[in-house]
Amino acid sequence: MEALNGPVGVLALQGDFREHIEVLGRLGVRARAVRVPRDLEGVSGLVVPGGESTTMSLLLDSSGLLGPLAELVTAGTPVLGTCAGMVLLASEVLDGKPGQHRLGALDIAVRRNAFGRQRDSFEADIAVSGLDVPVHAVFIRAPVVERAGPEVEVLAEVAMADGVKRPVVCRQGPALVTSFHPELVGETRLHEAFLSSIRSQTRKENVRAL
Ligand code: GLN
Repeated sequence: MEALNGPVGVLALQGDFREHIEVLGRLGVRARAVRVPRDLEGVSGLVVPGGESTTMSLLLDSSGLLGPLAELVTAGTPVLGTCAGMVLLASEVLDGKPGQHRLGALDIAVRRNAFGRQRDSFEADIAVSGLDVPVHAVFIRAPVVERAGPEVEVLAEVAMADGVKRPVVCRQGPALVTSFHPELVGETRLHEAFLSSIRSQTRKENVRAL
């Protein structure tokens, strides 16, 4: 397999970062837990895990990671966000806590707790464009995308209680986000899509360095 220019960082302030590190390991990729700014040095991409976006937002302040992460996103480093990670990477959070940070890797407005109490958690097989076999998706207090900007590709949607289909997998350039948790069910294809965007970035960087 083609080598990456550096390890893949996994934001490890809170949430299910261990499961992401495990998936990356299974795919033969070196992962590094990111807790302080120097952990970001040389990373080729970053995963923002599931957990609780409001807590992670507070921890971004206390760890000093907010500024460096915002720079990484602005630089176009590939990022993968699952669930709370989707919320942190969005440009707008409709039901955020006051002062909740958004990294704006994609032009999307998300609702954090979109599925209501009776459907706090559910599982479904959903079609994702580009993948032949549906993804078994585990939604846990999952967010949904209420608005996706013109640059955003919607790769999967689910029908909600009001009968309206809303996006649950979106991509904008090097940023990929899912409302659900592929890392909890042994699903690797979305991580592979993220790794291929790192590889195409790496190829561009290597050409530039010639
Ligand atoms: N609703 C949670 C949030 O706002 C996300 C839940 C999850 O990551 N499973 O962060």
